[in-house]
Amino acid sequence: MSIHLSRQLYDEMVSHSMRSLPNEACGILTQEASLTPSDELQIHTFIPLHNYAADPTQQFAILPSDILPYLIDKRRRIVGIFHSHPTAASIPSAEDLSTLWHTIPTYWILSLQHKERPNLQVYSLKKTTTTAYHKLSFVIGQ
Ligand SMILES: [Zn+2]
Repeated sequence: MSIHLSRQLYDEMVSHSMRSLPNEACGILTQEASLTPSDELQIHTFIPLHNYAADPTQQFAILPSDILPYLIDKRRRIVGIFHSHPTAASIPSAEDLSTLWHTIPTYWILSLQHKERPNLQVYSLKKTTTTAYHKLSFVIGQ
C-alpha cells in the first residue's frame, strides 16, 4: 500500500499531540471519497478529536458521536485512526490491538518519547482470530 501524507498534515498531527500532553492525542484521517480505496492512500484531512478515555495519559477513546459527521459525509471517507504515545515508542500496545479500529485501513501512532524527534509510524491491523466452532454433545430425552 502506498500512503501519501503532506508535510502540513504531519505538522498538524505533531502540534495536536504536543498540545494534548501529558495526555494521548487522537484523531482521524480522511481521504476524498472520489478516490477509490485501492492500494493507494492520499490523506486529505487530519481531524483532531477529543480524548475521552478514563485515563487519557494511558489510553485514548473516541466518542462515536464525534466521528459520526465524517461517517456520513459522502465527500470523504475515514481511512485512518491516529493517536499519540506521550512517553512510549510508536508501536501498538496490547490495548491498541484489542480495540475495534481494525476495520479502519490504517492505524497511525506518533511517539513523543523523544520530543525533539517525534516518530510517526503507520500500521494496518489485521484481526487473525476467525470465528471457530466446537462440536458439543447432547442427549435427546425420552
Ligand atoms: Zn496506543
